[in-house]
Parts: sequence; C-alpha cells; structure tokens
Amino acid sequence: MNKSREEAQTLAQQWLDLTAKPELTEEEAHSVIADAKKNFANYVNKGWLEYRKSVTEAGQWAATEWTGRGAVLRDVLGREYIDCLGGYGLLSLGWAHPRVVGAVQAQLRRTPMPSLELINPARGVLSKLMAHITPGDIQYSFFAASGTEAVEGAIKLAKLYTKKSGFIVAVRAFHGKTMGSLSMMGKAEYRQPLLPLYGGPVYHVPHGDAAAVEQQLEICKTVGIDIAAVLMEPVQGEAGAIDPPDDFWPRLRVLCDQYGALLIADEVQTGMGRTGKMWAVEHWDVAPDILCSGKALGGGVMPVSAFCSTPDIWEALMHPNPFMHTNTTGSNPLACAAAIATISVILEERLWEQAAEKGTYFKGKLKELVTRYPHIYARITGKGLLLAQHFHNAEVGYRVAAGLFRRNVLVAGTLTNAHTIRVEPPLVITREQIDEVLNRLEDTLQDISHSL
Ligand code: PMP
Repeated sequence: MNKSREEAQTLAQQWLDLTAKPELTEEEAHSVIADAKKNFANYVNKGWLEYRKSVTEAGQWAATEWTGRGAVLRDVLGREYIDCLGGYGLLSLGWAHPRVVGAVQAQLRRTPMPSLELINPARGVLSKLMAHITPGDIQYSFFAASGTEAVEGAIKLAKLYTKKSGFIVAVRAFHGKTMGSLSMMGKAEYRQPLLPLYGGPVYHVPHGDAAAVEQQLEICKTVGIDIAAVLMEPVQGEAGAIDPPDDFWPRLRVLCDQYGALLIADEVQTGMGRTGKMWAVEHWDVAPDILCSGKALGGGVMPVSAFCSTPDIWEALMHPNPFMHTNTTGSNPLACAAAIATISVILEERLWEQAAEKGTYFKGKLKELVTRYPHIYARITGKGLLLAQHFHNAEVGYRVAAGLFRRNVLVAGTLTNAHTIRVEPPLVITREQIDEVLNRLEDTLQDISHSL
C-alpha cells in the first residue's frame, strides 16, 4: 500500500462533507457502497465480508446501513428493512430514539468528556438510577463501554471480595472476547486458539443444570479449590435464546450462599426489559450479588455497560485502594446522558411489559409455524423478545435468513452459523410490523418447502 497523509486528509474531508449533507444523490449512494466494500476488504476484515452468509446468499452482501427509526433500518440506497436482529440486543429502544438522541445532544452542547478529577454529576445520577432499578441490595455501579468490560469488572470484584480465584460457568456461554471474559466463554472455537487464558480455575457445566453446579461446587470443596463465583447468563443469548428450567436460578442462589461463592448474572443481553422483565433474574425472583449490563443500556445511541453490586461487596473496590478499578471514558457525560434517558424511556413506556406481551404473541405464531413446517423447524425457544428459531441444520437456517433478507427483514444466525436464528427486534416494534415479518417468513418457508 502506498501510504500518503495528504490522501488521508482529502479522504477524511470528503467523508465529513458527504455525511454533512441532508440527502445523498444516487451516484453518491452508489459510491458509498463501492468504497465501503473496498475499505472493508482492504482495511477491516475480508473474511468477515465473505462470511455473512445469509446476506451473501441473498445477493445483497454489500447492503450498507445508513439510518433508521424505530424498528426500521434504511440502507444507503433508501431500501427499508424491518429489524428483527436489533443489534443483538443493542437496539431495544429502536434506531436513534429521539429522547436519547436529544439527551446526548444537550449534553454535547455542555461537555462530552469528564475531567476525571472533579465530580461528574451525571455519573452520580446514573449510578443512583441503577440502584433503583436493579434487584435486591445492589446499590453501586461502575460504567464502561462494552459488555465484555462489565464482565471483566465483575470477575475482578468477585476475586477481590472473596479472595478466591475459581469460577463456575456454563457450556456455550458468551460473556465477551477480552481475555478474562473469554476464559468464561463456553465455546471451543473462540477459546482454544488462545489457551492458556485466565490463570485461575474455570469449570464449565451445562447451562440450566443446577445439579451439575452443585456437584462441581462439592468437588471443588472436597479437593480444596476455592470458587469465587458462579457466572451465568440468565437466558443464554448467543447460544440461541436458551431459557433454563424455572428452578435453576433459585437453586443457584441457594447453592452460592451455601458454598460461599458469589452469584453473577450477566444481563448484558437479557437486561433492560428484553425478556419481559427489567432483568431476566426477576422471572425467578432472584437477586444476584453482581449484575452486568450493557448493550441496550446506552439506548442504541451510545456504548454503555455496567457492573453493579451491593455495598458490602463494593467495599473491595473502595478500601484500601479506591483506584483498584478505573477507566478513562467509561462514565463520560455523553454515555451517562444516553443511559439516563434510556432508563427514563423504559420506565415511562414500561418496555419490559411490551416485550412480554409482544414476545408471547410472536413466540405463539412461530410455534404454529413449527407445527406447519416440521421438516424445516426443530423448535422455538426464548423469553420475551429474546427468541430463537432452531432449524434441523445450518443450511436450511441460512436459506430462511437469506429469504427473509431478500424480503427486507434483517435477522442473523448465532455467531458463525445459522442452525439457530435469533429473533431479537427492538422492543418498540409494532404489532403490525410483527405481522408483516410473519407474512414474509411464511412466504419464505413456502418457497423453501417447494425446493426441499
Ligand atoms: N455478555 C453477554 C451475555 C453478551 O451477549 C455479550 C455480547 N453478545 C457480551 C457479554 C459481550 O458484550 P460486548 O460485545 O459489548 O463486549
């Protein structure tokens, strides 16, 4: 590559000029697509570009996002898609919710970033709001940008408080891809090439199997390995919206107390109303010791994540060294403004109730499709608007995903495969939009049935 700073300056200015325009001409839109393809291939990740198989198979692999409102996403050519992917839980409030955008704009006029030495008042307000909306005695919060950072913080806090180092986690779990979170992940393809990971012991047990957790805790006690925490997703997201038996979380709570381990709920994907409760653990009336949040916390406008815990446990981060866990931009005023507005919208519109009601309707209709297309579907799982369609194999899953994309509905498989397709639309999706998705899905299934 021939490197040129003059060319970089021209390119940056061209992009700034283009994005300042209220509308693009058709020629400009096509040049955005052509450049995006080249830039992704040459400077981002060629493999990723080739791997998005559902859109690749739909023949629209270069579809380029541009804007969106509510549950509708628009590409740079002005084509509209009903978003049934919702940024894997990021866009619970839909695309560019006006109240969240407004709050961020207001904050931006004053100051976007913190001094880090004076007191950032927005950080205080957001922490207090989190104390109000989280379960049990949880009262303190620390903010970052990504879900994986929230999990990293939770791991450190559990170790510091318990002075133990072992973790029990779930097979097929997803907690993020930084080294600590990755150690807790339950999928070989992401872990194995990077072994060894976390220095302490990590044991994987099947999600939803309280007896397996108990057995592991008992074994560790017998052989003298101390377990700091049991870390799980309440409903597994990336594994394909897998909800556990109803006694699982209550039993985890009892077991953790019995064995002196902390219970960490990773609600990065399930939290903020997604499963039909503000937090998924509320389905079972369980208060974890540490709760992780992320994705939807920033309202789909700013990246915001958090880990939160009780005053007793938080002591480990306050004394003797209050700088035990810090970051530079985690509680920046823009992120705080977005999260404060997000919480306000969720509470005002009671979005968790909407998720419960719309999810029950959507799931019921999907289950009817399983009965009518048993050669395509294996089953439907999930809670609220964290649902998943499980197919007999990945190939048929890709065909459904591609068929939907051709019909302007955005869905995606779970990480690298379409054996399971998650249905995770913004919680603000309307009943009419759900019906429209179901129509287009039925049309796709009929098409596929004919050629099977
Ligand atoms: N935890 C869970 C349960 C998740 O679903 C995810 C993301 N899919 C993460 C953690 C990691 O979040 P991020 O990608 O923002 O680091």
